[in-house]
Amino acid sequence: MDTASAPGRAVVEVDDVVKTFDGGNVVALDHVSFQVPEGQLAVIIGLSGSGKSTLLRHLNGMHTPTSGAVRVLDRDVASLRGRELRALRRDVGFVFQSFNIVGRVTCLENVMSGALGRLRGPRYGVTTFSKSLRREALEQLDRVGLGDRAFQRTDTLSGGQQQRVAIARTLMQKPRIVLADEPVASLDPEISGQVMDVMFRACIEDNITVLCSLHQVDLALGWANRLIALRDGKLVLDSPVDSDLSHERVMEVYQRLDPTGEKVDEYSLGPTPVIEH
Ligand code: ADP
Ligand code: MG
Repeated sequence: MDTASAPGRAVVEVDDVVKTFDGGNVVALDHVSFQVPEGQLAVIIGLSGSGKSTLLRHLNGMHTPTSGAVRVLDRDVASLRGRELRALRRDVGFVFQSFNIVGRVTCLENVMSGALGRLRGPRYGVTTFSKSLRREALEQLDRVGLGDRAFQRTDTLSGGQQQRVAIARTLMQKPRIVLADEPVASLDPEISGQVMDVMFRACIEDNITVLCSLHQVDLALGWANRLIALRDGKLVLDSPVDSDLSHERVMEVYQRLDPTGEKVDEYSLGPTPVIEH
């Protein structure tokens, strides 16, 4: 089935979005439109500077469009303020390339902090979390394979483990959508695969919609059920990931990338013909 246009309620609607910076001198997004149905795992690929982070930041209100509209979970993101914006951000988790965890506290405390947004009443910090929340946080750590590290200081873990703590914290938030901005860009390829595995598996289990930016085409093809490619702020490919979508075909409409995301000489990678569009 064509997952890119599969029926199902759209939880993300990006409608003709243009985003410029520096008084219009930089066009970061150039008339981008697409919709994402609930439960889809969409990967956004593109070279550095193609607009991936700018696009993801529109989906949780960190950016507002210069023109066009963004609706997420039936809310017009640009119009949200204060409490409404915080409510959206509870439903939309964000996983960063740089992990954004607190290194000097335990893994368990980092994960428990993911629940802060959904607690009612006064909050005094993680020391006052209830037993049931602690149990829940331990369960989330188990899901990412780090149950035995709960009481370890987070900065004593490896990069891949720290990112798994960040993923557990995001899951603790009970989001409906997870935005992941190059979550494995600072990890080596083997660890990258493990982290992607943990994140996508948990999101599938919890029926969380995922939009994840990556610059490695192979990782994208392994996990996504939809691939969106940006080049210079323009959407240049939007396709379901199925047996028809080969690595070569992505490269035909996109550009060859090496594993670090740098553009490489198109003819240095072997005999596959590359058709530039
Ligand atoms: P990617 O995440 O794909 O590397 P970005 O979304 O970060 O790309 O950037 C897209 C373009 O927008 C780049 O040209 C970048 O320099 C520019 N850009 C992004 N954020 C800002 C900003 N806050 N101010 C000015 N230019 C920006
Ligand atoms: Mg980026």
